[in-house]
Amino acid sequence: MEELKRLQEEHGGKLPNYTFPGAYPIIYWIKDEWQGLLPLCGDCMSRYMAGEYGDEWAYVAMECGADYEHDLPCHACGVQLSAYYEDEEHGGEVAKI
Ligand SMILES: [Zn+2]
Repeated sequence: MEELKRLQEEHGGKLPNYTFPGAYPIIYWIKDEWQGLLPLCGDCMSRYMAGEYGDEWAYVAMECGADYEHDLPCHACGVQLSAYYEDEEHGGEVAKI
């Protein structure tokens, strides 16, 4: 959690959605008390950390540029988190932060 707070400060108070360089989606894994392991984007992880979704969850890990061969939507907002899927959909277009 400390590493997330530092990352958040380095990016002007918001967690990054993509790696730089590379522009791979960053997946923030949390463990929800009721639903188990859930993937989140940077925006939603920032909201979770701000307490908008309550506090019955725990930060598990951060993953960068994972090649999932299936789609992997953010649990909270539905944005695509799989690099592989992103490339297929948008022809490898570089995402803007
Ligand atoms: Zn999200």
